[in-house]
This record gives sequence, C-alpha cells and structure tokens, in this order.
Amino acid sequence: MRTPREIVRIMARHLGDIGVPAPVSSGDDPFRILVGTMISLRTRDAVTRVVADRVLRRAPTPADMALMREEELAELLRPAGFYRVKAGQLSRIAAILVEKYGGKVPGNRRELTALPGVGPKTAAFVLGHAFGIPAVCVDVHVHRIANRIGMVNTKTPESTEIALRGLFPRREWTGLNHVFVRFGQKVCLPVRPRCRECPLREDCGYSSGEP
Ligand code: SF4
Repeated sequence: MRTPREIVRIMARHLGDIGVPAPVSSGDDPFRILVGTMISLRTRDAVTRVVADRVLRRAPTPADMALMREEELAELLRPAGFYRVKAGQLSRIAAILVEKYGGKVPGNRRELTALPGVGPKTAAFVLGHAFGIPAVCVDVHVHRIANRIGMVNTKTPESTEIALRGLFPRREWTGLNHVFVRFGQKVCLPVRPRCRECPLREDCGYSSGEP
C-alpha cells in the first residue's frame, strides 16, 4: 500500500506541468489573492483569470474597491458564478479592510474567516499562497478524491483538512490543493472518474462501475 505522499507524487507526475492556481495568477499581493480566490469559487479557471484581471485593474487596492458602487463591481464580476453575491461580499470586505485593518488583509485564519463570504477553504488558500503559512485548503476535489482513494475516511471537508494535516509534513500542505484540483478536473472527475487511465487504479478502493 502506497503512502499518502507517494500517492500525491504519482498524481503530480501523471499530470505533468500544472501551472499555478488561477487565483495566484492575479499576483502575490494578499488582496489580489483574496479577490482572485473569492472569484474562483464556483467559477472556471479561465473565467477567474479574466475576471480577476479586470476587477483588479479597476480596483487594485481595498480603498479603490471600497469606493466603487456595488453595481459596477457586479458588472465587472458578471461572467463569474454568483457574481451579485460576490460583489456584495467583496464590497463589504474592502470596507472592512480599510476601516479595521488599515487597508491590509489580515494574515490569520480567525480574522480571515470573520470576513463576509470567507470560509475555511478560502482562508486556507490565502494563508498558504499570500502569507506563506502552511495550510491545507480542502475543496470538493480534495474531499472527494482523498476519500475515494481511502487516504481519509471523513464526512466533511473540515474533518478532511484535519486528517490531511496529520498525513503530510507542514511544508507540503499548501501545495496539496492544486494537485488534487487538477487531478479532479482531468482524471478523478466527480461523475464518471476516468479510472481506466488512472495511475492509482491499483491503490483505489472506489468502484467506478467500469469493467
Ligand atoms: S481509480 Fe478512479 S476513483 Fe480512484 S483515484 Fe483513480 S480516477 Fe479516482
């Protein structure tokens, strides 16, 4: 039986060059990564990149965004999923960052998750990529694949996060999400996973119904 680290290495080798996560392509400034991460929720990577660029060109800082009308922000966000909800959340986040944090994004989980629309997944992504604080970002792909393979046996993303933290050294926590996400997009799809071409077929207890 392969170890979790070996399994992730096999996934990464199978995928080849996976580039950088879409929210990170907006730049490494914490505000840009936070905005990109909010936009990326329920939104395809290509759309995230285009929309994040457009929004951050118009409002590169929290102060700029706080001064925008929410309707204008919604128009810029429009191709992204739930763009009206995201416009409201980003407007309020920008105002809070200006009023409470001197225009900076706080670099800890408690304050990040107190921001509108920022859950554990977004907070972990921002901590890892914007602040260099190791964090396991568990989204639907990570939760699904880790359970299918049998790496964890959990019911919620929160418990998956705790379990994965115990299986990998801290320095590898931040990079896990991107490998799982790409693997979940290309091989271990939510419906009809491509088990026949999967390099983990021998290790995986999931029954895909394939011959
Ligand atoms: S064998 Fe199938 S279910 Fe298991 S990891 Fe591979 S694609 Fe996913």
